[in-house]
Amino acid sequence: MLSVMKIRTKIVLLFSVISTLLLVIFALYVSYFTYDSLQTKFFHRLEENAIIVGDHIVSQKEENKELYIQVKRKYLKQLSEGTDHLLRIVKGSDSLRFKPDLPMPMDFYKDVIRDGAGRYMHKDTAFVAVFFVDSIHQDNLIVVSEGIDEYGHDEQRVLDRTLVTGGCLAILLIIFMSFYFADRLLKPIKDINRDLGKVDIANLDYRLFSKFSNGKDELGVLIANLNSMLNRLDISVQSQQSFIGNASHSLKTPLTIIGGEAELAQNLLPKEHEAYYSLETIAKYADKMELIINNLLQLSRMGFKGEVDNKEILRIDELLYEIYHAEKNIHKDFKLSFDLAQIPEDSDELTVLANPDLFFIAFSNIISNAFKYGNGGQVQIAISCDDKSITIQVFDKGIGIPKKDQPHIFTSFYRASNVGDIYGNGLGLVLAKNIFDLHGAELSLQSAEGQGTLVVVTLPKIVF
Ligand code: ATP
Ligand code: MG
Repeated sequence: MLSVMKIRTKIVLLFSVISTLLLVIFALYVSYFTYDSLQTKFFHRLEENAIIVGDHIVSQKEENKELYIQVKRKYLKQLSEGTDHLLRIVKGSDSLRFKPDLPMPMDFYKDVIRDGAGRYMHKDTAFVAVFFVDSIHQDNLIVVSEGIDEYGHDEQRVLDRTLVTGGCLAILLIIFMSFYFADRLLKPIKDINRDLGKVDIANLDYRLFSKFSNGKDELGVLIANLNSMLNRLDISVQSQQSFIGNASHSLKTPLTIIGGEAELAQNLLPKEHEAYYSLETIAKYADKMELIINNLLQLSRMGFKGEVDNKEILRIDELLYEIYHAEKNIHKDFKLSFDLAQIPEDSDELTVLANPDLFFIAFSNIISNAFKYGNGGQVQIAISCDDKSITIQVFDKGIGIPKKDQPHIFTSFYRASNVGDIYGNGLGLVLAKNIFDLHGAELSLQSAEGQGTLVVVTLPKIVF
């Protein structure tokens, strides 16, 4: 339960629970000791009262009488509910002459006779008993003073009420404060998260900066570590890109030469010659390798740098026709139909701002896929637009893509399991997706194995 909570909630909860617990313990401590001290004081008062009453009875001195009257006047007010009980004890024994109507057990009186005094609490009523040796009268005496500490109880009630209301207010304040401090504590982490979200392959040179850290605390160390990780990533991505770029570039020229020379040699040989078909294969595969290298070069040139140079205003329908003719030149059996039902009358509606070479590569890849994997059937292209975008749909009724392969289709060199011996490298769609991403366009794909594939490209329209 605690593990799925947000850190902010955890901090608030922990801070509030600990503070509330401390407050409750403190309040109980104060309340209990106040109760104890009030009770002790009241017992003292009762005891004084019992001594005065007892002294008055056992010594018949005049000054004691005077004192008795004064004290009674003073104390009786406070001990309004109070009564004194006089219990006579048979001299030389510890048995009471009459059993009094009091809640104490008989052992209590025996203890009083032995110790000289005793205290007893029954519900709210306090009892104090004092033993007197009575030399004037026949029997000894126990004076029991009984009373309810109204004043003390009132005081206790007021204190408890104050503690409860004060405690509740303090808890509310603590909860507010814990929200405030949790937010303050987590603000730098939120900032770091927000900044990290901005980092992607196109801006790996971005470095984190937090104004909340002095550079030496844990956050400072975290920021420094993340920055040095970004440094390393930046360097390795850059070197990887330049490696792919350099390698592709260096391979391109020898390959062109190999292809060219093979074609030349092939043309010089009669068809019956054994080496004729070998040279043809060499030329064909040299072409294919050049295609792969071109794609890799394009990928590394775009350099994931997040922007495209040389953008022009393009008519998307014209570009698609151009691609169709280029494909048709290579594959004579390529069948394509344009669905122009939803095409707008105003040709300006079909213009986009894009790099023509990159768009040519991207759409060629999609259209050639539809042909390659299309089982020799007809490929359909539909163009439609709305206020903000132009949508191009490329549809074939070919082999389709198995469900399990679909999530990986945009990964470099990944090819679906059902391609059989259809030639490909698994780079076309990655390249196309990168190109569309760079133009703010979207590429999506729906496919069912054995039924066909629909590729949808949505391009942002130029607003004139
Ligand atoms: P190349 O790099 O030459 O384009 P490729 O066509 O194999 O090689 P991608 O275009 O990236 O690579 O496509 C990746 C995979 O997606 C393909 O290998 C294929 O399995 C699947 N795929 C793409 N388009 C279709 C389609 N129209 N019909 C069926 N499968 C497709
Ligand atoms: Mg392809």
